[in-house]
Amino acid sequence: MLNKAKWLAKEAGLRIKYMTSKDCIFCKIIKGEIKVEPIIESKLVIAFNDTNPVAATHILIVPKKHIESVATIEDSDADEIIEMFSVANKIVRERKLSAYRLTFNGGSYQHVGHLHMHLLAGGKIEWSRL
Ligand code: 5GP
Ligand code: ZN
Repeated sequence: MLNKAKWLAKEAGLRIKYMTSKDCIFCKIIKGEIKVEPIIESKLVIAFNDTNPVAATHILIVPKKHIESVATIEDSDADEIIEMFSVANKIVRERKLSAYRLTFNGGSYQHVGHLHMHLLAGGKIEWSRL
């Protein structure tokens, strides 16, 4: 019984390590170590304003699970991906955005190694800074 408890504790530790990454800035936001004002927060996803906006509306939609990039998405991440689009859908509807873009950066275009969708709207988008 004790062994099983120990095994479960170890397993939980491994899972938590797998779910978030220690040095990842978005994981720190998700764990509350860096404060943000959430726009929407659900069980699987958090959305907040980009700190360095390139458009009047620049929102980051981020899965709470540490998925590195589009290139590393697996079938088991399906719920997170669906939820990201569901959050985008809610923001677009609530704000009645008449024109918007959803962007994923990858490879050398991606600066934070934790999957995120940029929701951009309003006026001119400064693509060269994204
Ligand atoms: P990427 O180039 O990886 O697609 O975009 C990362 C985005 O995260 C950038 O637009 C950058 O401004 C934003 N960002 C980086 N660090 C922080 C932070 O600590 N807080 C917020 N709100 N946004 C951040
Ligand atoms: Zn992360």
